[in-house]
Amino acid sequence: MRTRSEVSAGGVVYRRSDEGVEVVLAARRTRRGDLAWGLPKGLVEPDETPEQAAVREVREETGLDADVEVSLGEIRYFYVWEGVRVRKAVHFFLMRATGGDASQHDDEMEEVRWFPLSVALRRATYKGEREVLQRAAARLT
Ligand code: ATP
Repeated sequence: MRTRSEVSAGGVVYRRSDEGVEVVLAARRTRRGDLAWGLPKGLVEPDETPEQAAVREVREETGLDADVEVSLGEIRYFYVWEGVRVRKAVHFFLMRATGGDASQHDDEMEEVRWFPLSVALRRATYKGEREVLQRAAARLT
């Protein structure tokens, strides 16, 4: 099977409230049609750094502005699309929300919502992203 590589970047966007730390998850339809809750992310364009792509994708997908604070490392996975095996790496950053409005999210996202960090740790669909959220929790709590 043919193989290609993709590099994406995204963020754990957080804010502090009276109840504690909250983070953003976005729900999207997978290519199979299921609903998946995940971190905002997308492909790094040729002229971008991963940090720049993370800020842009967070803005586009969630409607929120956020500043990159620190790298949370990367996750890797494979998927198969139209007979091509895609090897994907996604760089994630801890990002502090500075403004914007989650109701202004992309149509690609069914829903964008703030969750208490402890809830997001269970709600995120993919194991790799739950591990990224654990690393964020270790820094934030
Ligand atoms: P983007 O441009 O936002 O990086 P995309 O929609 O082109 O995204 P993915 O979000 O990587 O591509 O989705 C491709 C496939 O990989 C889907 O089947 C999806 O369910 C699966 N997938 C997405 N994230 C993960 C993950 N963290 N771990 C395992 N599989 C994942």
